[in-house]
Amino acid sequence: MQSITKDDILEILTATDKEIIKFMSETAKYRENNLITFSKNIFIPLTEICRNDCGYCNFKKNPDDPQAIILKTKEEILSDLKEAEKYGCKEAMFAFGEDADEEEIVRLKLKEYGYDNMIDYICDICQMTLDETSLLPHTNGGNFSYDALKRLKEVNASMGLMLENSSKRLMELPAHNKSPGKNPDLRIETIENAGKLKIPYTTGILIGIGETKEEIADSLLTIKDIYDKYGHIQEVIIQNFTPIPGIEMENWSEPSFLDMIRTVIAGTLVFKDTDVSIQVPPNLNNDTAQIFLLCGADDWGGVSPVSPDFVNITSPWPGIDELEQLTEDAGFELTERLCIYEKYINEEWLSDYLLDKIANLS
Ligand code: SF4
Repeated sequence: MQSITKDDILEILTATDKEIIKFMSETAKYRENNLITFSKNIFIPLTEICRNDCGYCNFKKNPDDPQAIILKTKEEILSDLKEAEKYGCKEAMFAFGEDADEEEIVRLKLKEYGYDNMIDYICDICQMTLDETSLLPHTNGGNFSYDALKRLKEVNASMGLMLENSSKRLMELPAHNKSPGKNPDLRIETIENAGKLKIPYTTGILIGIGETKEEIADSLLTIKDIYDKYGHIQEVIIQNFTPIPGIEMENWSEPSFLDMIRTVIAGTLVFKDTDVSIQVPPNLNNDTAQIFLLCGADDWGGVSPVSPDFVNITSPWPGIDELEQLTEDAGFELTERLCIYEKYINEEWLSDYLLDKIANLS
C-alpha cells in the first residue's frame, strides 16, 4: 500500500471477513519492535467547570453543585503530586474544563487565590510541579490561544487536545450541539498553533458519537496533514465512546468491537511511515484491549496507579502488573515512557530549563 488515500481508509473501515485479517497482518509489517509503551501518571482535574456541554460528558459539573471542584488550591495539588511521587509517577496530567473562567464562581476563586485569569493559574501550577516535584506537567484543557500556548509551552513537557472529529456536522448532534469549543475549526487551529510553537502533542479521534465512516477517514487524514506540516504529533488516540448512566447520550450504542478494530487498523496504516504512536485506552476496552495490539496499537497512554480516570470515572485503569501481563500474553513487552516522547527531548522542542529538568529525572 502506497501513501494512504481516503478510499483506502474507507476500504479498511468497511472491511469484513478475511479482508479484516488481511489488513490486520498488513499493520504488522510496519511495527519496528515489540514494545508497548505507557506513561505512569496522576490525573489531576484542576476544575470541573466547563463552558461546553458535550452529550457524552461525565466530567463537567454545574457551578452550583456542592460536589464540584471549582478550582483546586495549590496545597491540594501539591499534596496529590507528592502522593503520586511515592508511586513513581512521572507525569502530572492536568485536565480540566475549557474556559472555566467564563463562570463567575471560578473568577472569584481565581481572585481569592491571587490570579487574574486561568492561564496565570495553570502556568503557576505547572511551575510549582516543576519546582517542587519530580513530575512533568502535561496540560489538556481544551482550546487555547496562540499566546496562551506560548506561555504553557515553557512549563509543560507536552500537551494534548483530542480533535475528536473534523466534521462540523457533529455540531448539530447531541455530542456537540451545546459545545462551541468542539467546533473542529477551533480545535484544528489550537493543534496547528501547538505545531507552530513546537509543543510535543497528543491528539486523537472519538468514535461512536454519530460520525460516519467518511468522517472518521477525513479526521485521520486531517491529523496526518497537520503532522506532515509540523511534526509535533507524538501519538494518536483511538477512543471509543462509552455510554455511562446519567449522561445525555446514555442510550446511544457504543461502537462495535469490529469498528474499533477497523479504526485502529486504519489509524495505524495512515501513520505507517511515521513514528507516531497509536494509542488505545485500556480501561475503556477491558476485555478486548489485547486485540488492538495486533491491529498496530503500540501505546496504552497514561495509566495511573494513584488516581481515577476522571473523564471515564466508571472505567478504572488496570493495575500496572495486569497491563504487563495482558501485553506479554499478546506477545509484546510493556515499557514505561515519559509524557514527552524520546525524539522530542532536545533543544529544538524544549527550553534549556525543561531539558535540565528531564535530564535530572533520568
Ligand atoms: S467532554 Fe470536555 S469539553 Fe465536553 S463538556 Fe465535558 S469537560 Fe467540557
